[in-house]
Amino acid sequence: MTPSTRILVVEDDPDALLVLRHHLDPRPDYEATYCSSAATAAEHLTRGRWDVLATDLHMPGMDGLQLAALARQRDARLPVLLITAHATVDAAVRAVKGAVTDFLTKPLQRDAVLQAIDSAVAHRRAQGRRVLAVGAHPDDVEIGAGATLAGHVRAGDHLTILTTSSGRRGGDAGLRAAEAQEAAARLGGTLVLGDLEDTAIPDRGPTIDLIEGVCADVQPDTIYVHSAHDLHQDHRAVHAATLVAARGVQRVLCYQSPSATIDFRPTMFVPVGTGMDAKLEAIAAFATQTSIRDYLEPDMLTATARYWGRFARTRFAEPFEVVRESQGVDRVAV
Ligand SMILES: [Zn+2]
Repeated sequence: MTPSTRILVVEDDPDALLVLRHHLDPRPDYEATYCSSAATAAEHLTRGRWDVLATDLHMPGMDGLQLAALARQRDARLPVLLITAHATVDAAVRAVKGAVTDFLTKPLQRDAVLQAIDSAVAHRRAQGRRVLAVGAHPDDVEIGAGATLAGHVRAGDHLTILTTSSGRRGGDAGLRAAEAQEAAARLGGTLVLGDLEDTAIPDRGPTIDLIEGVCADVQPDTIYVHSAHDLHQDHRAVHAATLVAARGVQRVLCYQSPSATIDFRPTMFVPVGTGMDAKLEAIAAFATQTSIRDYLEPDMLTATARYWGRFARTRFAEPFEVVRESQGVDRVAV
């Protein structure tokens, strides 16, 4: 279940764009989106998860380097392939080597393009943290750890969100699944949506199998999951199943849900600055829920983060119970 390689291609020359489509579209493991302007690409960058940005250098308005800088603000390790018109890239462009991963020169040869993409993706997958956030229902993960997760993405880590049920009891399952996809994309993560039964999620068997399967694919070094101190039986079940499935994972942290009890006792407080905006934007994707759940109201979410900020000596923070944090792993820097 390796997710496909999501490539954002930006090229204002229609002929070159056609050549790129011709090279990329036959690859079943690629999912390419094509734009003819940097402005359109900039919108895509803020709205989704990308594995590679391939952009032309010379474009009217924002050029390829400015676009690359914008992309790296959101995801510090996003591979950027710069498409240039000349076989010999001039010295000025070479000088910006640090700002891009590799160069693609026109005419764009199929093998060279595919090799550059594959090696950039492989290199990226070998870097950064692999973060898995597990929640019983759509919106659980975003409420508990949304700002921290956005911080991981900004630092170049890979984020996978596993939601074990589509939350049928809380509304139309299809709509809720689409909202969950959109929310994960807004945080810059990949969603895996399970189909366990809402309100009847077991704490063993299929739940452990589901989480173990995702762990085998993602190989996470950090997991965020529900706390055991929670009134909702599904949340407790997912917590218990995750501890079994994630027994080899270095860091396991538990987030606070609206149904957390007074016994939720965090010892880690992650300062979240701009991450709060990303969190609120992700939660706004749950449109069928935001109008009927007071715990999704932005002032509730903001006030909660403001309260926990006290413990991190900062304005906003998200609190976590630490189940496990192995030696030698850095603290989260958001
Ligand atoms: Zn829930």
